[in-house]
Amino acid sequence: MGDSNRNNIRVVCRFRPQNSREIREGGVPIINYDDNGDSCRMEGKEFQGNFTFDRIFPPETQQKFFFDESIKPIVDDVIGGYNGTVFAYGQTGSGKTHTMMGDMDNEEFKGLIPRIVEQIFHSIISSPSTMEYTVKVSYMEIYMEKIRDLLNPQNDNLPIHEEKNRGVYVKGLLEVYVSSVQEVYEVMKRGGNSRIVAYTNMNAESSRSHSIFVITVNQKNLNDGSVKSGKLSLVDLAGSEKVGKTGASGQTLEEAKKINKSLSALGMVINALTDGKSTHIPYRDSKLTRILQESLGGNSRTTLIINCSPSSFNEAETLSTLRFGMRAKSIKNKARVNAELSPAELKALLKKAKNEAVSFQQYISALEGEVGVWRAGGTVPKEKWASMDKASSAPTQPPTPTTPANPAIEAAKREMDSRPGTPAPILEKDEREEFLKRENELTDQIAEKESVLANQEKLLNEMKEELVFYKSQEDTITKENKQMESELNELKVQLEKVTYENKEGAITMDSLREANLELSAELESLKKALSELRLSQKEGDKEQKKQEKMAAMLAELDPSGVISKKEQQIRDTLLKLETIGGDNSTPLTMEELSTLRRELSDSKSLVSQHEQTINELHYENEHLTRKRDELEIRLTTLELEYEELLDKTIAEEEANNNIDITETIAELRGKLEAQFVAKKEVQQKEIDELKQELEKKNEELHKLNSALADLKRVNEELQQTVISDKEAKSEGGQKNVAEKEKDMERIRKTMAQQLADFDVMKKALMRDLQNRCEKVVELEISLDETREQYNNVLRNSNNKAQQKKMAFLERNLEQLTNVQKQLVEQNSSLKKEVAIAERKLLARNERIQALEALLQDAQEKLTTQNQKFEAQLQAVRERLEQARSQKSNSIASSINFGRIAKPLRGGVPVLEGYESIFLI
Ligand code: ADP
Repeated sequence: MGDSNRNNIRVVCRFRPQNSREIREGGVPIINYDDNGDSCRMEGKEFQGNFTFDRIFPPETQQKFFFDESIKPIVDDVIGGYNGTVFAYGQTGSGKTHTMMGDMDNEEFKGLIPRIVEQIFHSIISSPSTMEYTVKVSYMEIYMEKIRDLLNPQNDNLPIHEEKNRGVYVKGLLEVYVSSVQEVYEVMKRGGNSRIVAYTNMNAESSRSHSIFVITVNQKNLNDGSVKSGKLSLVDLAGSEKVGKTGASGQTLEEAKKINKSLSALGMVINALTDGKSTHIPYRDSKLTRILQESLGGNSRTTLIINCSPSSFNEAETLSTLRFGMRAKSIKNKARVNAELSPAELKALLKKAKNEAVSFQQYISALEGEVGVWRAGGTVPKEKWASMDKASSAPTQPPTPTTPANPAIEAAKREMDSRPGTPAPILEKDEREEFLKRENELTDQIAEKESVLANQEKLLNEMKEELVFYKSQEDTITKENKQMESELNELKVQLEKVTYENKEGAITMDSLREANLELSAELESLKKALSELRLSQKEGDKEQKKQEKMAAMLAELDPSGVISKKEQQIRDTLLKLETIGGDNSTPLTMEELSTLRRELSDSKSLVSQHEQTINELHYENEHLTRKRDELEIRLTTLELEYEELLDKTIAEEEANNNIDITETIAELRGKLEAQFVAKKEVQQKEIDELKQELEKKNEELHKLNSALADLKRVNEELQQTVISDKEAKSEGGQKNVAEKEKDMERIRKTMAQQLADFDVMKKALMRDLQNRCEKVVELEISLDETREQYNNVLRNSNNKAQQKKMAFLERNLEQLTNVQKQLVEQNSSLKKEVAIAERKLLARNERIQALEALLQDAQEKLTTQNQKFEAQLQAVRERLEQARSQKSNSIASSINFGRIAKPLRGGVPVLEGYESIFLI
């Protein structure tokens, strides 16, 4: 391989076997490989065509073969002091990691990096013992356009610097010195664990980040002190596929955009490097291209591995990968050995330079002499004109300025040539330095700002989450509050309504009460009027009625005045007798006397009969009186009851206004009716009985009357007899006159006595009868009164005007009762509602208080949390500050072994006792 070839980027293409997914999806191989090993033909659906690269490795290629054939020479380059770069490009799952890293612990499947490391250490060991080496490694990752130190993952946003002597480098990146393959492995594993891996559909373990593993080999020739260094960058690029195919979403989409940015910047850099006309190469467009600036068109021997799938399933991606490789193929690099001259070489160079200075001095003085001659007006022949040759031919001949074989100038020239063509405007050297310095400062600031920003973002996110939480809480609280407020308002309105209705109800109640009172008063006055009326009527009527009745009854009892007449007759007879007795004119015969006596005795018996009857009547009268008394008592009790009932009803009405007056009235009426009917029945019965008795008495009286008539008749007969007797006496002698007179006198006396007795009896009887009649009349009157009372009561409710009034009153009362009932109901329901509302209000108040307490609590918690958080933040800041200050003078404890350079001597694995501390 010639140098000109080697300055081109080497592009090798590796196909992996079809994977199970591709086979499952019905993918078929679409690549045909040429036997010469550098071209292949794609027989795809969309594209058919040939591709030629430096090497093409078919799917069955083993790891060792691939290393030996594609990369091994690069190790020699690095050992020889060249920079080297290996890129692995391809879609996710195309075999980049398999190619670069492989299975580190498996001899057969380990990839390029382990083999390179082994090879480097092998080369060191096999070099002469005059050579001393130090090997250091660093491992970084570019994820979301941020450089993260995989060996010191806390450093996740390292800035890129560029210095005149060092070129482009990542500031603060941990470089670990290693002295054996095992140590490198350890470091690689450690770094591998820190890699960010986002899983996609394409390959569960594919990385969405670019990883760069750097091995720097410094070597010193102990013989001449010359130093060389070679840096090998091994880059596993992120998947080159389009975002859509990975099924990425959310943050992964964001990642993909940034990853694509780095990759597209890589594409742009390659385009600019290869189109032959670009003056500006956009290295600064991405971190990846900036870091790998030297590897692309600069001081590096670069190999690009393009990893492809041979399957028809991934045709489009494979085609784009192959085209990327084709473009990259024409990039030309300018690799050179990074060497420093040994002291002897430098001394020689100094000596030469001094000599040159002397000859220049001589040339200058010769020229000055010549100029002096010319200025003085003289001439200098051409052959004597001062020249560099003459000057340098002098003992210490100064060299001509045009000497091309000056190694220092050459070196400087070379240096200038090898610098990459950015920034595009050509700057003066000082300006460039100034610019780089400024740029570095700015990059630092940017990195710092970015990390601050990241922290702030993190904080912001936390705060946002917290805010969201609090907001949601607040929302719920506000919602609840609103709900409660509306409920409260509703309740308030209800309460107001209730209060208003209550007031109204109270007013209505008052008016009703007043109306009730008025009505009661009216009722009272009516009652009074009624009772007055009744009383006056009673008083007026009673006497009249009594009189009438008595008269009627007495008339009924003695319609023809038979008794008085009879009495008169008897009196007359007696008188006659007296007269007869006095004159002795009419003496009575014995027969007459005996008849008289008989009749007298008859009369006597009759009288005694009458007396008995009278006695019976008296007894009966007494019985009747008792009955009447009883009836009267009953009547009064009834009246009392009635009054009481009425009073009670009215009182109840007034007290409660609750009782249905109609009902009460009906009840009362029913009761009264029942009572009246009972009373009526009893009285009717009694009256009937009395009537019967009266009839009986009448009959008896008739009998008496007839008896009296008989007596009269007898008396008349007696009279006649006496007259005839008298006649006989006057005719007969006067023998027994005195005796007869005596008898007559006796008889007359007896008769008079009997008559007087009868008179007395009659009087008594008459009195008794009158009394009875009176009693009967009274009874009847009382019956009438009761009837009237009843009628009154009925009238009270039935009398048209009264009825109307009553009906009106009843209606009123009913309405009032209804209204009152409604009011009472409303009142009670309102009361209930008010009570509920009050309870609710109370409950709500409690809830509100509880919520307020909770809010207070939450606020307090928040404040305490904030304070805590502040304190923590402060502590973290302090710790950070401490760590920073410590960092400057202490070594990261995690990988402290790597901070000490362990120089390796050719042929000897590790040089003991030769340790120096390198600080980055
Ligand atoms: P990438 O790094 O490009 O995403 P990987 O290197 O992880 O892809 O490869 C994906 C899968 O394919 C892995 O399981 C790997 O072992 C397998 N694979 C890749 N290249 C080859 C190959 N040349 N031979 C055998 N298996 C391979």
